[in-house]
Amino acid sequence: MYDVIVIGGGAAGLMAAGVAARNGKKALLIEKMEKCGRKIRITGKGRCNLTNVKPREEFLAKIKANPDFFSYAYDSFNNHALIKFFRDEGVKLTIERGGRVFPTSEKAHDIANAMIDFAAEAGAEIMLNTTVTAINTLGNKIYGVKVLTKKRFERNIEAPNVILCTGGMSYPATGSTGDGYGFAHGLGHRIEELRPSLVPLLSNSEFARSIQGTTLKNTGVKLIIDGETAAEEFGELSFSSRGIEGPVTLRLSRMAVDALIDGKNVRLSLDLKTALDKPTLSARIDRELAGMNQNQPLSDLLRKLMPKPLVAPFALMSGSVSTLPLRNMTEEIKERIISLLKDIEIPISDYGTFDEAVVTAGGISVDEIDPQTMQSKLIKGLYFAGEVLDIDADTGGYNLQVAFSTGWLAGQLKK
Ligand SMILES: Cc1cc2nc3c(=O)[nH]c(=O)nc-3n(C[C@H](O)[C@H](O)[C@H](O)COP(=O)(O)OP(=O)(O)OC[C@H]3O[C@@H](n4cnc5c(N)ncnc54)[C@H](O)[C@@H]3O)c2cc1C
Repeated sequence: MYDVIVIGGGAAGLMAAGVAARNGKKALLIEKMEKCGRKIRITGKGRCNLTNVKPREEFLAKIKANPDFFSYAYDSFNNHALIKFFRDEGVKLTIERGGRVFPTSEKAHDIANAMIDFAAEAGAEIMLNTTVTAINTLGNKIYGVKVLTKKRFERNIEAPNVILCTGGMSYPATGSTGDGYGFAHGLGHRIEELRPSLVPLLSNSEFARSIQGTTLKNTGVKLIIDGETAAEEFGELSFSSRGIEGPVTLRLSRMAVDALIDGKNVRLSLDLKTALDKPTLSARIDRELAGMNQNQPLSDLLRKLMPKPLVAPFALMSGSVSTLPLRNMTEEIKERIISLLKDIEIPISDYGTFDEAVVTAGGISVDEIDPQTMQSKLIKGLYFAGEVLDIDADTGGYNLQVAFSTGWLAGQLKK
């Protein structure tokens, strides 16, 4: 008989199992994949951006759903506690631009392996290749779980406490297939609508298609919903065969996805020259023209204003062609070029799937969970941690901190 069973060996589950074991509890962690921490290993493009050193208020502002609920877990095990934790585990860390924290080795595997070592050395038993198929209860109390082994043996394992850390639904090949939502729902918990977040946005725009493979840096991007500017970002975005990706797009995607689900009109407006207003841009073009031969093609002028792949589509959008001799460039074409540099409209028709989303928005409603313990208000002995909860955050190390903080708090098994 165990004191606690932790379901799922991701960031949240490994932390919860390790903490419970370190506190003297007989802990069993059950993971359905052949090894723990598969998702950790692909985070941060294989480098694992494990947290962010932003101060408390700025940090919590990056939590997009239920920051107040999360603040209890954050205050009990925050970004600095996590940094200390990894340093104590012998992992060297480096702080990069934007306060993002990475292992100095730049290997996400080092974080996954450190978490496995922590849980195992603390005394947690780890059972791999075993899927939890049900959470067993007696009345409103936890009784244990039912599992299915790889060889398809079914059995029940008893424990008075279960910590549900099955993650979200994104990148299901890592093992996060959304099993926890069904368990929680079956025990009376409400599930907030599940949506992919930090996900590419799809567009049928000719312009977007014609520049696929291009990355634009230092670009201002407005998210426009039903004609109103809903959010603005600055940075890098890239164009693929289906639509738009890159950090800026991912950050805007949560709001865009919700608006698309609500049937609203969604578009992006790109500003390629954020530092210049239209009159300054006009003067800049006049200066460029003064130094050019009037027989040169329009493309030579455009090339001075934008990356090469944009030149031909830009000429077309401005109502001309890139071979047009500059002497034939009308004031109207010039005005159109200036307008486009400040505002290229890209209609958004859809968004990527869970397979390509960094996180899942929505999840187990926090209304029926005590934020000070992570325990269910409905079922005694049932705790939650990680992405399975209705908590999701921006890119920058915040989602892993959510998993680590809630895992740490749940692992205390506070009543
Ligand atoms: C490509 C990518 C890059 C990312 N990069 C970053 C980053 O750099 N920084 C950041 O902060 N966040 C990043 N994230 C998000 C972050 O990885 C997750 O939010 C976080 O790992 C969630 O941890 P978790 O423990 O809650 O869930 P998961 O890591 O999803 O773990 C859940 C575990 O439960 C297991 N499981 C599921 N069902 C069962 C069952 N029935 N029985 C037994 N086991 C089960 C799964 O196999 C899995 O191992 C990234 C995500 C992706 C997809």
